Amino acid sequence: MRKPFVGGNWKMNLDAAAARTLADELARTVAADGLDGFCDIAIFPPFVYIPAVLGVLRDRPSGIMLGAQDLWPGPAGAFTGEVSAAMLIDCGATVVLTGHSERRHVIGESDELINRKARAGLDAGLSVILCIGETLDQRTAGRTNQVNERQLRAGLAGVKPDQLVRLTIAYEPVWAIGTGKNATPADAQDAHAHCRAVLTSLFGNAAAASIRVQYGGSVKASNAAELFAQPDIDGGLIGGASLKADEFLGIVKAAAASSQAK
Ligand code: PEP
Repeated sequence: MRKPFVGGNWKMNLDAAAARTLADELARTVAADGLDGFCDIAIFPPFVYIPAVLGVLRDRPSGIMLGAQDLWPGPAGAFTGEVSAAMLIDCGATVVLTGHSERRHVIGESDELINRKARAGLDAGLSVILCIGETLDQRTAGRTNQVNERQLRAGLAGVKPDQLVRLTIAYEPVWAIGTGKNATPADAQDAHAHCRAVLTSLFGNAAAASIRVQYGGSVKASNAAELFAQPDIDGGLIGGASLKADEFLGIVKAAAASSQAK
């Protein structure tokens, strides 16, 4: 039984006051409704607002985890503009995204760099969400499973068995991110089942059955339930809809309900 996990990736949005307000609204409802008992929840503010959001989450305990959108794989040194795993931990983050499609396709990160980032996060004790997913051209060419398999195998090379409890995969078809287009629940389930088969071949049945695979790509409160009802979909990674408290909480509630129904 996998507990669903919903992450809110705020990307490069909000200001300090808006970040505090959003975190406070989320924490109030999650605590009042005990949602973290049914669903793990994390929010990923821009680096510079992590301390402000940490203050809110400390004042209003709710079980919401604090995350970062990226990290640099080295421990310290001449890496202008970058942030290490140790710095994230020092600022109160417990989870980090790696390989988000905007890092792969806008910034140009390679599978090899993403693997170094994932291992650095896990080695430092962070939980890591490794994001994978095919572009529209790759899907149209029938290469969805092949691309996801390559990104999984490359991204997870060298990850140790005892680190898998802190690993989550986010399957996010690039063509569905921020576009309002979704994979159908059936197409998403197919891709998730294939990801789980790859995880089985990498780590064995028991580990693969316990690793959560989130879906990401234009998830909203109105479409979350049908996606999360799929057997291999374990919650979601949410971009645009995570910036509105009501929408994000609707998605969290759909995930919590899915865990009771499965
Ligand atoms: C994302 O950025 O991971 C994402 C899924 O974005 P959106 O929900 O806006 O498609």
